[in-house]
Amino acid sequence: MIESKIKSTVRDVPDFPKQGITFKDITPILKDPALCQEITAALAGRLKGLDIDVVAGIESRGFLFGPALAQLLNVPFVPIRKAGKLPYKTVQQSYDLEYGTATIEVHEDALLKGQHVLIHDDLLATGGTVVAASELVKQLGAEVAGYSFIIALEFLNGKARLTPYSDNIFSLAAY
Ligand code: 5GP
Repeated sequence: MIESKIKSTVRDVPDFPKQGITFKDITPILKDPALCQEITAALAGRLKGLDIDVVAGIESRGFLFGPALAQLLNVPFVPIRKAGKLPYKTVQQSYDLEYGTATIEVHEDALLKGQHVLIHDDLLATGGTVVAASELVKQLGAEVAGYSFIIALEFLNGKARLTPYSDNIFSLAAY
């Protein structure tokens, strides 16, 4: 079963990036090409029946499976990046972190009005990052079709923050 394979492959790193946080390190998954293929296929399988025009992936770990997922779904991939990285004109969205704020952005011509956008990231924690990504999608006049994650930290209740945008929230492994 894919969930147990993911859980037995992901590495827990205590006290990263700071004391008291146990970080789910997904890099061991990348060393297993068969599991990578299985993950991409499983994500696409969960999304069957959804109307998806574009996959938008979030820097940086959303770039690991986002493009492969987009290729499997035969739709474009759009990168959402941290401020200052994208070369062309952008729209921006800031969001609160535990201490301070962060800003993400997307090229202003990355999405067309009315397009249905699947937002993809490796992991859902509090939901702050994908809420900001959802606001970027809305700023460009597109719609959130749903969300896909490899891992969801369900005890942090991130899903509740996403349902105002879309009920289609999929993850392969839950904690
Ligand atoms: P959120 O905004 O939902 O609180 O945090 C999710 C974002 O932080 C994602 O972009 C994700 O990559 C990153 N993140 C937070 N905690 C972890 C973790 O334990 N493991 C990994 N791989 N990413 C994390």
